[in-house]
Amino acid sequence: MLSPSQRAKVNPVTALQPKPAQVKTALQKLRVLYPDARCALHHHNPFQLLIATILSAQCTDKRVNMITPALFKQAPTPKRILALGTRGLEKAIASCGLYQSKAKNILATCEKILREHEGQVPKTLEALVKLPGVGRKTANVVLSNAFGVPALAVDTHVFRVSQRLGWAKGKTPEQIERQLMAHLPKKDWIEAHHLLIHHGRNLCIARRPRCERCPLTRQCRYFSKEISK
Ligand code: SF4
Repeated sequence: MLSPSQRAKVNPVTALQPKPAQVKTALQKLRVLYPDARCALHHHNPFQLLIATILSAQCTDKRVNMITPALFKQAPTPKRILALGTRGLEKAIASCGLYQSKAKNILATCEKILREHEGQVPKTLEALVKLPGVGRKTANVVLSNAFGVPALAVDTHVFRVSQRLGWAKGKTPEQIERQLMAHLPKKDWIEAHHLLIHHGRNLCIARRPRCERCPLTRQCRYFSKEISK
């Protein structure tokens, strides 16, 4: 068992030069640990995933999955969501945090999709990030999960866990994204995103990483530098 002082050490690693063999082994172990790692937001098409991802900002996936079935049954297309109007959409997503600003962004996004993309969710990062309420992370989630485009969405878990493992080091999600893309095989980007999220939620949690239960200690820079020294 780790001592409280060891557990308290949660600062990211300071050096960065991941060995490809270690990255490969860590990914293999994560696959064994989380064989069902995939996008947790329920969706049946790119548009549903886009809306669900916008809703998921500062809200749990579980909550979003409680909201979207009724929303998409009532309004399955950009045109139908626009027809709900501000009041109707706010009512449909009211149990979601920041629902008023999200409703505003979703309506503006639907309007832009209809006006500029013939009613279809665009398939490029450049076009996606121009949609209201869509940042780089949301765009990469949609690209990778809805269209199968290799991309690495960096959320809070990916940001933290990848730095602890020593796969990346940076102050912004975009810095981390670029380093992960440099250090991970392209074929693994989409899967790595899901595996890191699952690991961040289950063991490599923010306040107290559960290193005593983690099978990645020998591949983890944080453990070797901060815990086992
Ligand atoms: S050993 Fe595992 S839980 Fe601990 S910091 Fe490394 S990846 Fe996270």
